[in-house]
Amino acid sequence: MKIWQLRDRARETLARETGYVQKPHGGRLRVALAFPNTYYVGMSSLGFQTVYRLFNQIDEVVCERVFLPPKQELREQVASGAPLLTLESQTPVGEFDVLAFSVSFEWDYTNVVSMLRLAKVAPRAADRSPRDPLVVIGGAVTFVNPEPLALFADVIAAGEGEVLVPDLVSVMRETSDRADQLTQLAPQRGFYVPSFYDVRHAADGTIAAFEPRTGSGAPPRVRKAAVRSADRLDPPATSIFTPDTEFGSRFLIEVVRGCANLCRFCWAGYNYLPVRAFPADRILELAAEARRYSSKAGLVSIALCDHPEIERILRSLLEMGYSISPASLRLDDLTEPIVQLLKQSGERSITIAPETGSDRLRRVINKTVTNDEILEAADVIFRNGIDNLKLYYMIGLPTETDEDLTAIRDLTVQMRDVMMKHARPRGHVGRIVGSVNPLIPKPGTAYQWIPMEDPAITDRKAKRLRQLLAGIDNVYFSIKSERHSYYQALLSLGDRRVADTIEAAERNGGQWRAAAAETGLDADFYIFRDRSKDAVLPWDIIDGGMKTTFFENEFQKGLREEWTLPPKRQKENLKLLPVLE
Ligand code: SF4
Repeated sequence: MKIWQLRDRARETLARETGYVQKPHGGRLRVALAFPNTYYVGMSSLGFQTVYRLFNQIDEVVCERVFLPPKQELREQVASGAPLLTLESQTPVGEFDVLAFSVSFEWDYTNVVSMLRLAKVAPRAADRSPRDPLVVIGGAVTFVNPEPLALFADVIAAGEGEVLVPDLVSVMRETSDRADQLTQLAPQRGFYVPSFYDVRHAADGTIAAFEPRTGSGAPPRVRKAAVRSADRLDPPATSIFTPDTEFGSRFLIEVVRGCANLCRFCWAGYNYLPVRAFPADRILELAAEARRYSSKAGLVSIALCDHPEIERILRSLLEMGYSISPASLRLDDLTEPIVQLLKQSGERSITIAPETGSDRLRRVINKTVTNDEILEAADVIFRNGIDNLKLYYMIGLPTETDEDLTAIRDLTVQMRDVMMKHARPRGHVGRIVGSVNPLIPKPGTAYQWIPMEDPAITDRKAKRLRQLLAGIDNVYFSIKSERHSYYQALLSLGDRRVADTIEAAERNGGQWRAAAAETGLDADFYIFRDRSKDAVLPWDIIDGGMKTTFFENEFQKGLREEWTLPPKRQKENLKLLPVLE
């Protein structure tokens, strides 16, 4: 593949876009912003688009995008030795001052390595020269557990782009020497420089300590960077429209950040606290501006209805002629007016997450809704004319028994009965589609110490559920067993010793089992080990704002089947929320 062909392709892509930014490079800090997956996937990422906007709204910065080429193109490009180019000016990525990755999924870790190779930048930070771009890795996944990517990054950006982008730019503007850049970033909130730490291991292979190198200025723990309030912030919203993405030309906008429900397994809930609502007027202004490019609004928030003005926002979007699709709705959000507004906007399906079938197990995981409330929510959904319901369940939860599996079947059947009651008079029956996944204990949650369930047990449970759910009319289930999640768990729970395996998997086309064998990695050590006695967890290097004692108490309360009610239900629990200073 010739470089002129790559340039032509980039220009064709740009010709189909609206809203991209092109600036002259002269005198500006040059940032190549990489999404470690294809254009089709990356352009659907609101986080990626937001970081692009944040960089480019600083006059002294020019930020251009770069993506992983699609499979065939990637093969040709590797074979021809053609360099990785940015989209906007088709400049080789290696010529930029900063190469910043926005990583949303663990599966993309191998793509980070592929893109570095393609850019002709050494994948390991230790092998780079000061002439290479500063490789900064950020994104949702890395601020939960940055360690598996630590050796590939000069700097890990831990936290929210609104704080990190201006701080990174000001250090880069003031320094030209690589050592200086790292030394200036290391003490700042949200910047983790992995090479400034020695990791000491105990005899059993667990981490004994992260030791900051003398004179590096690196803190014992890196505090996550987060905005205190979103009151005066522009909400993240689609700024580049293209038909060539997963969501087509949908206008995506973040309405409220965080969720205060404190489900004990949920890293997104714990990690985006406190809940912060973006200004409704600004949301509506941006939506009005975007209306000429799009007639579909995707509301990206894990707790949409925690926005105090959500009904006004939905009504106004409808009046602008948008059809609205929420990412997912919390069960306690499903009020009559909300469901009616969604129905009016043309929504035919609603997704909810009961997580499990029994009230008992829901108390264990702190999902603070009951089966009665779920059935009431199903009634609200179906009586307002929504046809289809999508359900998320998990298996492998602490204390789960066969009765809990039967309860998944029973609850689903009861929801189906509600659907039939409302569908029959209309003469049109929809579908209930369920999805069951094994629990992956996540860093930064009350389950961060527990092993993933024994695969033989999860397989048995998956099989049992398939039997229980077979042959129920209008109900369709996809049930995944542990095998699908095993290596994803490794990338969630691993430490920097996983780097060799990531590189091997990148070389062998994603054959993780072979990659682990080739590099002598004992993946079970990370996935199936009780970590409660570990002195230090890999992700402890980042201080996410939650106290360890809080997670320990939450875990114990779960075993006692006790809820920690969210503030919405019990005001005094506000004190449990880790308010970031
Ligand atoms: S309701 Fe629970 S699972 Fe859903 S986002 Fe909030 S904390 Fe997470």
